[in-house]
Amino acid sequence: MTSLSPTPCTPALAPADPHALARLDRGALQQALVARAEAAWELAREVHPGLPRPRIWFDLRGRSAGQAHYQRGGLRFNATLLDENRVAFMEDIVPHEMAHWLVFHLDEGRRARPHGHEWQRVMRGLYGLVPTVTHRFDVARASPMPYLYRCRCVQPHRFSARRHAGAQRGARYRCRRCRGELDYAGYDAGDAVGLGGAQASSGPGD
Ligand SMILES: [Zn+2]
Ligand SMILES: [Zn+2]
Repeated sequence: MTSLSPTPCTPALAPADPHALARLDRGALQQALVARAEAAWELAREVHPGLPRPRIWFDLRGRSAGQAHYQRGGLRFNATLLDENRVAFMEDIVPHEMAHWLVFHLDEGRRARPHGHEWQRVMRGLYGLVPTVTHRFDVARASPMPYLYRCRCVQPHRFSARRHAGAQRGARYRCRRCRGELDYAGYDAGDAVGLGGAQASSGPGD
């Protein structure tokens, strides 16, 4: 994979056709996303031939656009947000989640931060996308503390964007109860449940 140069890159997946996408009903739109995920997976197999094919669900609710769910063995997408943001899902969210999926299956992947070097290298080098991490669908509505951090306690801790940014830059936080170090466990904009155990999840680029 290529280095993290700041130069713009050429997307590896074909551009999505907004007019064609706009004409699709929900079922056809979801089929189109599955086909897109298949194309993204084929690309990922060029660097990791043993990468399992992720299953695809459209059961993600709330404000998260997509989530790579390793224990369930696939990628979850938000059908409502897909309907409202068709091009962005095809061009950005699908490769974003597939990049998480790929990184997790690399030898060093389980230790990698969700949007760390490895993920950024895949986004840039494999998919030809600028690895930005934004929340453009949900900035106005999102929970002020959507970042879940885990220790040994059952309940995750919630971090604000500012605290999360600090942690991603290397600041370490500990749980006052169990004294364990807090590790990033996923993004949850507020009303999603069942993130427990997921290694990473993401909103539109969280
Ligand atoms: Zn704890
Ligand atoms: Zn992500």
